[in-house]
Amino acid sequence: MDTKYIANIPGKGALKRILIIGGGFGGLQLAKKLDNKHYQIVMIDKYNYHQFQPLFYQVATAGLEPGSISYPLRKNFQKRKNFHFRMCEAKYVVPDQHIVRTNIGDIPYDYLVIATGCDTNYFGNDALRETTFALKSTPESILLRNKILLSFEEALTAKTEEERKELLTFVVVGGGATGVELSGALADLRKNTLPKDYPEINFNQMEIHLIDGSPRLLAGMSEKASAGAAKALTKRNVLIKHNAFVINYENNLIKMSDGSELRSRNVFWVAGVAPNGLPGMPAEAYEKGRIVIDEYLHVNDCKDIFAIGDTALLQTDKSPKGHPQVAQVALQMATRLAKNLNGKIKNKRPERFAYQDRGSLATIGKYAAVADLGPFKFSGIVAWWLWLFIHILTIVGMRNKVAVFIDWVWNYFNYDVSLRLFIRPKFSKIYEEQDVE
Ligand SMILES: Cc1cc2nc3c(=O)[nH]c(=O)nc-3n(C[C@H](O)[C@H](O)[C@H](O)COP(=O)(O)OP(=O)(O)OC[C@H]3O[C@@H](n4cnc5c(N)ncnc54)[C@H](O)[C@@H]3O)c2cc1C
Repeated sequence: MDTKYIANIPGKGALKRILIIGGGFGGLQLAKKLDNKHYQIVMIDKYNYHQFQPLFYQVATAGLEPGSISYPLRKNFQKRKNFHFRMCEAKYVVPDQHIVRTNIGDIPYDYLVIATGCDTNYFGNDALRETTFALKSTPESILLRNKILLSFEEALTAKTEEERKELLTFVVVGGGATGVELSGALADLRKNTLPKDYPEINFNQMEIHLIDGSPRLLAGMSEKASAGAAKALTKRNVLIKHNAFVINYENNLIKMSDGSELRSRNVFWVAGVAPNGLPGMPAEAYEKGRIVIDEYLHVNDCKDIFAIGDTALLQTDKSPKGHPQVAQVALQMATRLAKNLNGKIKNKRPERFAYQDRGSLATIGKYAAVADLGPFKFSGIVAWWLWLFIHILTIVGMRNKVAVFIDWVWNYFNYDVSLRLFIRPKFSKIYEEQDVE
């Protein structure tokens, strides 16, 4: 890739420039904690906002506004000197020249931090990218919400029973936290909200299937949590299928690895993540797409390049397969790296990264959640309140915390999510389907 031009960013003077790619959990935390008196900080991201991914499923199921879980990156740094944001996409890194190629030109750096996170993993079956719906960005959450609402509008006017049945069958693929949370939220919609909006639809016909490739849900959590999630979903009439992989989805027909088939027009793919790597570094810097780092979060053999969060792979004796791809890891890596880079100015020796696992939570629906907090493993209403509390605390931005709190209180008392708006962007694959012939 040839150098085109240098992106328009103010000069750094005598300061060293730290270029951060990605304003997600890791990148944002790092930028906040870096010493901006001694560094010029340049952050780039494809979007101009931070996305609170754990609550995408609530946007998709009309429980929250997209704006409540997205926060403008510039707003975080309005009063910050030596900070510059550019909305653009990093394409390639040239380590020898200390340059990142982007769609707005080349950006030179002194230190580069790659915090690009992950995207949806289709496990090599790229046709599924076109036919199913993912949940890895705010725009995808809105698309999913539209798809869900559109299915009910279309079910009312379906020409045949077969068509109506396909429209009312919802299939969630992937039994991790997102799959469990999405299935639970769909079940709550079916019970509390949708029958009021669509009294002409027989909601006994609405089926929610959760298809999971592993033998138990929430495979990353304890067996107690898996059992608790399965029990709460079964109580909500979610049909769970284990040890089955979706191998094909065409013409509204899902084919699974165990030979079974299912007809549906709503297939939601939350089965795994693939790293958003950045090409250009030597082959040894990558393993299965993730960027290999050492305990100082430094990319092996690449001077002045670091990687943090979901895209980084740090293999230690304690975590031989790397750390879990969760927000806590990204936040803690960012904090460690900020301390090390700030310490560099004072000639302090960098310290190794050591992950403190603070536990995991997943919610299934009202009053139902599971928690693994060290030796304490529990489920039910206490776990649910804890889940609500932690999410309110961690959402970025005071306005967003208040907005989420108000929506949740409203839903709690009214059994009614309030955001069932079908706002269609102009171009999308789902809108073609409803064209009247
Ligand atoms: C639906 C869902 C639910 C989740 N639930 C939980 C949960 O309950 N608890 C939990 O701990 N974790 C959860 N996670 C995982 C958690 O969100 C991630 O671990 C965390 O976001 C990782 O942070 P990160 O900084 O590495 O990447 P991200 O937060 O993903 O940020 C990456 C950023 O990089 C940007 N970017 C990517 N490529 C480029 C490029 N080439 N150029 C410019 N910008 C780029 C992206 O736009 C994005 O803003 C969930 C994830 C999803 C998708």
